[in-house]
Amino acid sequence: MISCKLEILGKEIAACDESGVFSYHIDIMDGHFVPNLTGGPDLVKAVNRSTDKPLESHLMIERPDRYYKNFIEAGSDILLVHQECLVDFKKLIADIRADGAGFGIVINPETPFSKAEKFLEDSDILLVMSVHPGFSGQKFIDYVVPKIAEARRYIDEQGLKTRIEVDGGVTDVTGKKALEAGADILVSASYIFSGNIGERIRTLQSL
Ligand code: MG
Repeated sequence: MISCKLEILGKEIAACDESGVFSYHIDIMDGHFVPNLTGGPDLVKAVNRSTDKPLESHLMIERPDRYYKNFIEAGSDILLVHQECLVDFKKLIADIRADGAGFGIVINPETPFSKAEKFLEDSDILLVMSVHPGFSGQKFIDYVVPKIAEARRYIDEQGLKTRIEVDGGVTDVTGKKALEAGADILVSASYIFSGNIGERIRTLQSL
């Protein structure tokens, strides 16, 4: 949702819903964990009022342990939390699950897959960042593709149910690369909202 037009949020969501999107991904930035500042529980609430599809909040914030509840109460079905955060993950994951939401672990482009391994059994999603988090409209970083493939192999070998999601610079071209490497879910923002929303979504789904 980071690239949608906020002044017509409801219309943008209606266009996405009609085109059959699977869920909505809301980027939350606190100006500390990443330099940019976006979103908040009120944005999640507004999206939640406009659609019945699942919502995931991507928490690019320094203290997800302090704010996770606000995002669940606002309507998030899944919280995506960065491995790079300095929090007690065991407690955070238990708290999020106790509140009835799902959990996903996120790794930045520079973070090796091995750092995410120990979280996978407790994660519904492994989100591999394919840009440096903080701004929309960046170019897909090709060197994350082998990491997606590595995650795919590990998850299959271990028989885990964790789904691999890729976020950043996803287009018809880069999305194909991510899927070929083993991704299950593509997150796309500027590609979808800079063209005909329906056509772009259907193009990505056709991949
Ligand atoms: Mg994101």
